[in-house]
Amino acid sequence: MTKQENKKEDPLEKGNTTAVSSYYGSMTFDQKAIRKKLPKEVYKALQETIKSGSKLSPDIANAVAHGMKEWAMENGATHYTHWFQPMTGSTAEKHDAFLSIDSDGTPIERFSGAQLIQGEPDASSFPSGGMRTTFEARGYTAWDPTSPAYLMKGGKGLTLCIPTVFISYHGEALDEKTPLLRSMNAVNTAALKLLATLGVDNSEGVITYAGAEQEYFLVDRKFYSMRPDLIMSGRTLLGAMPPKGQQLEDHYFGSIPNRVLEFMQEVEEELYLLGIPAKTRHNEVAPHQFEIAPIFERANIAADHNLLVMEVMRRVADKKGFALLMHEKPFAGINGSGKHNNWSIGTVEGVNLLEPGDTPESNIHFLVFLVAVLKGVYKRSGALRASIASIGNDHRLGANEAPPAVVTVFLGDLLEKVLDAIESGKVDFATEKQVLDLGLAHLPILNKDYTDRNRTSPFAFTGNKFEFRAVGSSQPIAVPNMVLNTLMAEAMDEMADEIQQKIQSGVDRDSAILEIIRTEITATKAVRYQGDNYSEDLQEAAAKRGLPNLRNTPQAMRALLDQDTREMFARYGVLSDQELTSRLNTRLERYIKGIDIEARTLQLMLKTFVIPDVSEYQGNLAGSFNGLVAAATTIGVSDKALKSQGAHLKELAENLSDLLDMTAELDAVIDKLSTIEEEFEAADFCAEVVLPAMDKVRTVADHLELMVDRSTWELPTYSEMLFEH
Ligand code: ADP
Ligand code: MG
Repeated sequence: MTKQENKKEDPLEKGNTTAVSSYYGSMTFDQKAIRKKLPKEVYKALQETIKSGSKLSPDIANAVAHGMKEWAMENGATHYTHWFQPMTGSTAEKHDAFLSIDSDGTPIERFSGAQLIQGEPDASSFPSGGMRTTFEARGYTAWDPTSPAYLMKGGKGLTLCIPTVFISYHGEALDEKTPLLRSMNAVNTAALKLLATLGVDNSEGVITYAGAEQEYFLVDRKFYSMRPDLIMSGRTLLGAMPPKGQQLEDHYFGSIPNRVLEFMQEVEEELYLLGIPAKTRHNEVAPHQFEIAPIFERANIAADHNLLVMEVMRRVADKKGFALLMHEKPFAGINGSGKHNNWSIGTVEGVNLLEPGDTPESNIHFLVFLVAVLKGVYKRSGALRASIASIGNDHRLGANEAPPAVVTVFLGDLLEKVLDAIESGKVDFATEKQVLDLGLAHLPILNKDYTDRNRTSPFAFTGNKFEFRAVGSSQPIAVPNMVLNTLMAEAMDEMADEIQQKIQSGVDRDSAILEIIRTEITATKAVRYQGDNYSEDLQEAAAKRGLPNLRNTPQAMRALLDQDTREMFARYGVLSDQELTSRLNTRLERYIKGIDIEARTLQLMLKTFVIPDVSEYQGNLAGSFNGLVAAATTIGVSDKALKSQGAHLKELAENLSDLLDMTAELDAVIDKLSTIEEEFEAADFCAEVVLPAMDKVRTVADHLELMVDRSTWELPTYSEMLFEH
């Protein structure tokens, strides 16, 4: 689309009257744009490169860069940037102008193949977790041709964004994208091997898919800007519960406030321009909490797109006078936000390997892949738990909120029955009839009535995909999907070997497959849990079955010290030992720094807001009490009245002095934290000492909030933030 056409048809100006399909993806250098801008042979070569996953050759790169620049400039872009995902949990970009000056002084727009396939950000400020020494601080960003370039709005103009991977001088992954791409390769290799073992050899490749349901809060910016805690840490560190919380549950799926709807529509229109298939929007359980969900895509594309969803939402929120809160628990006592990562595996030809088919044979294949998921999740539940551990998510997992820190799998009644029947040996699968008796032929029909969904499960099978619900709302999904892919690759690889061994020992293929299914059902039984995940029963079951119950980030990160786990990541070519260590270090460091920032922010708020406000109010109250005492005899105030008013003042004074004591305790704890050098020790100290000290002082501060004159209390309250529109 040219700039002029763009203007004429600007869907943002026309509101919803334009059909989405008419402008969907028009801000991306997609197949249509590529075909239009590139010579045929270059187009073909590029397609080949994308398909084979190989490197772009320099001469093709030059032609692609030229076409991309033409397209970008026609649409009004002046700058380009390599967009990448460093290990900070967000995204990074460095903008360069197309402009260059020729030797004779003429200005000209240039963009070469070398600039397309490789950029050189000064990487010394990005975390490497100890992988790079400063003298080789350079990192390289290189275009990932599987992810289309796009034009991003911002400020007054458009920027050409090139999705890239970020690697060190020696080729180590410095980002979250590279390991995800590697894990997609591992899945492909292992799945094709398993399919071949099953006797299926008509697939060109296997990929995983993801669809991320994204929860978030919107708060009026005028309140946000008056809350240092929201600004610094994304969550409220203080705040008394309002008289009404979410107990009425009247918000969930309620009508969307007009101002929010306008926000959602603008977000969606921008996402459609970027070729991001936003599908659903609705109110969530908590007041001011909402959700957006796209149609699922290849996991690596879905990971890029989820980051863009967050970025676009943040920008549109600012524009509309909102602050977007992506934190997992912005308000204590109110539901937190997660990101349900729907995940499945399928062939490039479009066969979902987790979908029951309509023949007994396809259903046996379905069971093989289903059991592989059980095997992978069971064996690597520690790594999976670690993939979603973060300072914010600790307030959900293992705290008072679903899902729990124990990773279990929910399959639903029907599949439980099928697996139990297979395990009990009631059927030996010798005949097709027995397979039919088991109901395997009818799975798809029953599947349509698959309503028994357990909303409390962290990892639930929902018909033809798994829903990993423990991911935090602010987390990039690249990491959990990378771990899911890797554990699945390992499980598939091992099952293929096991089946192959049986066949080699003389067992026929069908029996070999079914024997291995049975063996694995028994071996992984402990990871299946169908009950209420909020219950005490789960905690007991976890202990009895020996399932890891990793309640906070440092505990979860220790799972990555396990030698066997580390070898898995290395064996499947996803993360070398050093790359894994660097991720571990980076995550621990972020956890410690994050809690240090929270604690210092609370300290500041106590000293500059709460204590002064309470002191001021206490002064007023004391003045008025003294006045009353002085006039008591003259005006005949009863002793009882003096006593109760005195008691009120006394309660305030004693709470204020508790608050002062606890603030001093918090000061001491913060000082102590800065003296601890060993990272796990510091992280444990954060979880076990700093956070409890923060909670303790908060309880008193929140109690005082409800005693102090509203006009003296400077911080916006929960009632205002959550119930005013
Ligand atoms: P729910 O009942 O949990 O809302 P939906 O069917 O609406 O379930 O799907 C939720 C998310 O799951 C959407 O993002 C959707 O695109 C995604 N999804 C659906 N099918 C698959 C699949 N096969 N693989 C991965 N994600 C999927
Ligand atoms: Mg869902």
